[in-house]
Amino acid sequence: MKISLNLSKIINQIAIDAGREIIKIYNKPFTAKMKKDRSPVTKADLVANKLICAALENINPKIQIISEEGKKSLHSKTNIFWCVDPLDGTKEFIKKNGEFTVNIGLIKNGRPIHGVIYSPVKKEIFYTLNKCAYSAKISSKNIYSKKKQIKVKPKNNLKDRVLLLSRSHARNIELSKKHFRTNKVKYSGSSIKFCYIANGLGNIYPRLGPTMEWDTAAGHAILNAAGGSIKTLDRKVLKYGKQGFKNPSFLARS
Ligand SMILES: [Mg+2]
Repeated sequence: MKISLNLSKIINQIAIDAGREIIKIYNKPFTAKMKKDRSPVTKADLVANKLICAALENINPKIQIISEEGKKSLHSKTNIFWCVDPLDGTKEFIKKNGEFTVNIGLIKNGRPIHGVIYSPVKKEIFYTLNKCAYSAKISSKNIYSKKKQIKVKPKNNLKDRVLLLSRSHARNIELSKKHFRTNKVKYSGSSIKFCYIANGLGNIYPRLGPTMEWDTAAGHAILNAAGGSIKTLDRKVLKYGKQGFKNPSFLARS
C-alpha cells in the first residue's frame, strides 16, 4: 500500500480525532483500572482504540491491526499490518502532565514504513510522507500551521548530546549519563521522545527492558524518515512482527 498525500492526511486525521475524544475524558474526572500486565488503562484508551480501529478498517479492511487495547495477534499470515497504541503514556495521562500521545504505525516486511504521533495537549502532530518526516500544529478547525520538515541533528562532541529518558521508567540516571558521556538530560513521557530526536531536540534515547511493538512503530517510522535510527543492543535494526510483538532493549539515536 502506497501512502499518498491524501491517505496520509486521512491517517493524520484519525489520530487527531482520537486525540479529541481523549481530551474530552482528560478534562473530566476519570478512573483507571489495572490490566493483567499491571499497566493502567482508562476509558480514554478504549474510546480512542475503537475510533482508530474502525477508521483504519474503513481505509482497507484487509489490513490487520495490532493494538495495545485490541487484537494482539494476526489471524492470518501477512507482510503488512497496522501497529496502534491509541494512548501511549497512560501513566502521564493519569498524572495529568500532558505527556501522552496517539500512535499509528504501518509495518511492511518487518519495517515501519509510515507513522503518525499526535500530542492532543500540545496539539502537535509528527508524521511521515514520502520518506520524509514533518511536524505541524493543529488548530481547532483541523488546520495545519507551522508545518515543517524535521531532521535529526547529530552532535560531533559526545558531551553535547542530549540524552532522553522516560519520566516513568528512568533508572540508573547517573549511570546513563556516565555511559553516554553527557550531562544533558531531558525527561519526557511516552513516544514523544522519538519526536524529540527526529526534530533535533534530543540525540539518544536508551530503553532498557521490554517494550511492545506498538510503543515504537510510529516513532520508529518518524525517526527513520528524519535520518535517525533504532537499533537493538547488538546493533541490529529493530524489526517488527516478532513473536508476541515484544521488543528487546534498544537505543534510538540521531
Ligand atoms: Mg497505550
